[in-house]
Amino acid sequence: MYDIIVVGGGPAGLTAAIYAARAGKRTLVLEKESIGGQIVNSPLVENYPALPHISGAELANSMYEQVCALNVEVGSEEVTGLSAIPGGYAVATDIGGYEGRAVVLATGVRHRQLGLPGEDELVGSGISYCAVCDGAFYEGRDVAVVGGGDTALQDALFLSNICRKVTVLVRRDRFRGEAKLAEKLRERANVEILFGHTVEAFETRDGLLCGLTVKNAENALRSLAVDGLFLAVGQEPAGAAFANLADTDAAGYFAAGEGGETKTPGVFVAGDCRAKKVRQLTTAVGDGAAAALGVCDWLDAL
Ligand code: NAP
Repeated sequence: MYDIIVVGGGPAGLTAAIYAARAGKRTLVLEKESIGGQIVNSPLVENYPALPHISGAELANSMYEQVCALNVEVGSEEVTGLSAIPGGYAVATDIGGYEGRAVVLATGVRHRQLGLPGEDELVGSGISYCAVCDGAFYEGRDVAVVGGGDTALQDALFLSNICRKVTVLVRRDRFRGEAKLAEKLRERANVEILFGHTVEAFETRDGLLCGLTVKNAENALRSLAVDGLFLAVGQEPAGAAFANLADTDAAGYFAAGEGGETKTPGVFVAGDCRAKKVRQLTTAVGDGAAAALGVCDWLDAL
């Protein structure tokens, strides 16, 4: 039986694993997609102390190497359920199962959708949620980014280096994201920022996206020809499978104390899946440390 099973291998989960391993706990991290989580999709991280210019992928890789050097075990598996057993928890995955004395849920968030007809079918045929992964497909072509947060700003900056033109559609009259990123974006000659604009429909040709019907603040509709659309309209919690273990807020984020403790003894939460105001790489890392120390205290007190 592991001492601690960490569900989710993003910055919060990996930091929890580093602290747990250094406290001498036998630790397993289970991640269903990319080790590093969402940060892998960040082209450039410029607000992580001591590392002023690092790509998200590099940072994730470095965290992964640190975790491995501490003999943490890491599995590429999707956790499908968690149930109490004598002395701990049984963690079921898509390919097997494990037992741990305690669990840290660091399940992060997933992309929010616009909810327009045809959206699911067009993912991979013109719609993407990841500029770093899919930007190269649109080299020399025209694309749009929807959203006004840090992800949209980063994505638009990244795409402006590859694409002919990037149109940024922001539903309000201002950005939500960092002023410094917005300032950089405004300097790009091939970027047009349209405030007060929303996407009303997708236009397609032969099953591929070829344009958007957009609406401005005066409710006037027009067509915008683009080959690619990058959606960066925020995120929603991804831990619904564990909602019975921890109370959630109205949006579905897990309620937890400062040390990540939930209403269920031995179940802790960390990172973006936790109910809180600020969701940054730095706060995810802080959460991971706090939850690991919380869980270690809890185990040591047993
Ligand atoms: P976010 O901050 O929640 O921003 C989402 C953006 O999408 C907002 O501009 C929002 O508009 C807009 N939006 C939401 N629903 C929409 C819809 N249906 N149609 C059109 N626009 C819609 O999400 P995020 O940018 O993914 O960032 C998530 C968290 O990660 C944030 O805490 C962010 O700071 C952090 N992050 C940080 C960095 C960094 O380097 N510092 C990088 C990436 C992400 P409104 O403003 O009107 O709500």
